[in-house]
Amino acid sequence: MLYDNLAVNEYGHLTIAGVDALDLVKEYGAPLYVLDEDRIRKNARLYTESITKLFPPGSSALYAGKALCFRGIYPIIESEGMCADVVSPGEIYTAISAGFPAEKLFFHGNNKTDADIAYALDSGVGCFIVDNVNELIELDRQAGERGIRQDILLRVSVGIDPHTFDAVKTGKVDSQFGTPIETGQAEGIVKMALSCENVALNGFHSHIGSQIFESDPFCDQVDILLAFACDMRDKYGFTASVFNLGGGFGVRYVASDPVVNIPSNIAEIADHLNRGCERTGFPVPRIYMEPGRSIVADAGVTLYETGGIKVVDGYRNYITVNGGMTDNPRFALYRSSYTVLNASRMAPDADEELFVCTVAGRCCESGDRIAEDIIITKPSRGDIIAVLTTGAYNYSMSSNYNKLPRPALVIVSGGESRLAVKRETFEDLVAREL
Ligand SMILES: *Cc1c(COP(=O)(O)O)cnc(C)c1O
Repeated sequence: MLYDNLAVNEYGHLTIAGVDALDLVKEYGAPLYVLDEDRIRKNARLYTESITKLFPPGSSALYAGKALCFRGIYPIIESEGMCADVVSPGEIYTAISAGFPAEKLFFHGNNKTDADIAYALDSGVGCFIVDNVNELIELDRQAGERGIRQDILLRVSVGIDPHTFDAVKTGKVDSQFGTPIETGQAEGIVKMALSCENVALNGFHSHIGSQIFESDPFCDQVDILLAFACDMRDKYGFTASVFNLGGGFGVRYVASDPVVNIPSNIAEIADHLNRGCERTGFPVPRIYMEPGRSIVADAGVTLYETGGIKVVDGYRNYITVNGGMTDNPRFALYRSSYTVLNASRMAPDADEELFVCTVAGRCCESGDRIAEDIIITKPSRGDIIAVLTTGAYNYSMSSNYNKLPRPALVIVSGGESRLAVKRETFEDLVAREL
């Protein structure tokens, strides 16, 4: 098993945090997103305990809500002592409507509109992570109108390629996110921010990418941020008190993906930062990290019912499931790998055959796949298929293509399940259509 919260019960069914996957489908239907709350909490503590112990007071883990944003996640991450990243007014609304304190929100985004800025200021978000000069000017103006001095970080790009897939790396110099250090433009925006009366510059943010399995790229990032911070101190007398290192530790989608020891990686980063600060005489800044995927991905399993078992003689086998790119677009977007199980036949009899197949979704789209060439116990129509590690970037990226209602989402904890997001109905599908 990929994770220790998965097991097989006496009926040969997959269990998720002790709950029978087939019982969940009986109760809530399929497709179904299932989230293991205890695993989310465990993942959160890997960050919060290390960050609290190893970095200066006020350092924090911020949950990157874009990975999985629904009201029910916010009480969990708040009770774990995390702050949260938001990237849109919709995410701000979701967090606040779930009771999450606005002052613990960090507002990201490379195109905050005037209306977004107004909404965030009026909501009282704790910190803006300013992407560009145009945003800075408008934020300064609107904060001034309201008599607010808004805390900000500046998003800079450090020009690091952490060797991940192109569409999921954002720290490169030619990135559409942030302002590059290398070209001198980051210095320009620092100068401008220091002259704005209605913003308080706390420090710098950069995000080098996602699915990073070691500390080295983060240490390189720390070096570049520290050199930049020293330069800004020497030139403008500004001492950054915060470095936000972004998100990105990787998770295991398939058995060949490495296991990341998050606490030991954070310890390596802390060690590297402390030595750099000692060498340069720069006061050790507070550190924020922004994990999304590694908090929720491996806590999630999607359950589908299989409908078709198709053998294209001499070419390829398929199983089709009653969901697909609408609830999980990651194969279509990135050709991501997944581990797939036949949750109905986890303890196969000797006469059951293993089946090499591609898992196709139900959309009218040849790219609608979940995984290619996986091996499972050959299913019969009606078997429940489990796709693992779907807690991040599935629900939050879901769509209604082909007018498919979004699945329900249930949370399991202590052997019990509770509905956290209702399944969409046909009425929901047309509710806004006049
Ligand atoms: C996407 C993103 C994150 C979260 O990345 P994960 O890979 O989900 O941990 C954090 N910060 C920023 C700025 C991001 O864009």
